[in-house]
Amino acid sequence: MKTRISKYIIPLDNSLKYSKIKYVYCYIVILILTIPLDSFALHLNNVAIDRTMIGVFYCAKPMRTPEQKAKRNIYLKSWRKKNQQKLLIYFQEYRKMHPELKQYYADYHFVVDKYKQRWKSEHNKSYMKEYRKIKREHLRLLKIEWIKKNPEKAKAIELRHRINRHDTKIIADREYRKNNPKKCSEIVCKSKAKNPELYLHIAQQSRLIRRARINGTETEKISILKIYERDCYRCHICLELTNKDNRSIDHLIPVSRNGATTEWNLMLAHLECNRKRGAKNILGLETKESALTYIQQRNELKKLRQINET
Ligand SMILES: [Zn+2]
Repeated sequence: MKTRISKYIIPLDNSLKYSKIKYVYCYIVILILTIPLDSFALHLNNVAIDRTMIGVFYCAKPMRTPEQKAKRNIYLKSWRKKNQQKLLIYFQEYRKMHPELKQYYADYHFVVDKYKQRWKSEHNKSYMKEYRKIKREHLRLLKIEWIKKNPEKAKAIELRHRINRHDTKIIADREYRKNNPKKCSEIVCKSKAKNPELYLHIAQQSRLIRRARINGTETEKISILKIYERDCYRCHICLELTNKDNRSIDHLIPVSRNGATTEWNLMLAHLECNRKRGAKNILGLETKESALTYIQQRNELKKLRQINET
């Protein structure tokens, strides 16, 4: 609408498109156009003024470039987020002012519910099942393509799905493993051959947790890879780099002193350094806070050494 009106009033060059001159120009033209209206019919005076105002309003609104439009959209989104409460109140009042909207929304939801019912019907379910069977490969490719285009959305959906299905999935997985032991062992063998390191980590993690459960100390879901990355792949006792063969996980507060098997109480150490230290509490750490500060201090030292070596 905006573009059309300004186009018909005066054809403008591209150079003038976004300049202020255009608005002045438009205003003058509209004034001239409305003068005869005023003179011919005095009672139309108000209408004419309104018209000029509308005309000025439309023309004075700058025509936005795509970049400006995108910028404005971002701004509007953030504004809506900030002023949610304000908008809610506004819409509530608007609905009160226009009671006819109630019927409109009721009709709308009636139609939507009808479609939903049809979508969930037994007939449709069986139809979709067959459709998925026939077009399995096609749908798989489509899904892969979509995930490639929207990686963030796909991640969010997967996370939500996993949280919703967490309890039922454990039971279903257990049953599947019971019913198809051969298939499962084949899958595990294949993935073990692919990432042997990952399985070593998993085995180490479960060993640590099992030991803690036997001793009756505090445990948590831990990730050994996370601990390695946090500790810069260096031993916390001698600060030297570790190898695949001589890595071990050390409890800062020893298990013999009821040390927890949690990420804040575990650090990477050489096997030899770990053995030398044994079960003695040389570090003298007693609480979670002291362990955390120890980790921070050690890791800062490690980073300094890394910089010095390079
Ligand atoms: Zn060491």
